[in-house]
Amino acid sequence: MGGTFDPIHLGHLRIIEKLAPKFDEIFLIPAGQPQLRDGAPSASADDRLEMCAAALDDLSDALQEKVSLLDIEIKRSGATFTVDTLSQLRAFFPKFDFTLVIGSDAAVGFSKWKKADEIKKSTKLLVVRRPGAAKSEFPEIEIDALDISATQIRDLFKSKKSAPSVLSPTVSAYITKRGLYGSK
Ligand code: ATP
Ligand code: MG
Repeated sequence: MGGTFDPIHLGHLRIIEKLAPKFDEIFLIPAGQPQLRDGAPSASADDRLEMCAAALDDLSDALQEKVSLLDIEIKRSGATFTVDTLSQLRAFFPKFDFTLVIGSDAAVGFSKWKKADEIKKSTKLLVVRRPGAAKSEFPEIEIDALDISATQIRDLFKSKKSAPSVLSPTVSAYITKRGLYGSK
């Protein structure tokens, strides 16, 4: 499961919790410089990675055992593409059968991703329905997703309203300690 995670929020963690029973292992992969995104992420790659680590710390022990945080995109220079990440993962873990997990808003724009057809042919895609997003071309599964976004959270911090109810406590504390998103 990839994402900008700027910041990681309870909507992302809901996906992990609901999908964990279906998988032996979940890799959480914060994006380096997503090519298709409007503008650069607001928080640095290191901060986004730290916030992911903080969010995972707040999960149950059983879930933590299943989830690994990978910095393979963040470590790659230049624009990062999912197709390259998948090749890298297959090279690292040749025996694994990977499933790419995305929300339905990301699925709507999927055909614009680099080598989208190659990804579709080589990798299973699991699309979770996201409230408010248009229907994508893919079958979508219902996980009772939360109607929240990182954009809303950044806006809340910017307007000096904290957003703890949609963040893990440790992530919230990290944001205010570091003064991210204009919270200082
Ligand atoms: P932003 O508003 O900055 O785009 P975001 O909340 O969409 O942030 P991303 O990091 O862009 O979070 O999303 C990573 C992945 O998680 C994407 O596949 C996205 O569709 C999915 N996702 C994000 N938030 C939710 C949510 N609340 N419910 C279901 N899927 C989500
Ligand atoms: Mg998004």
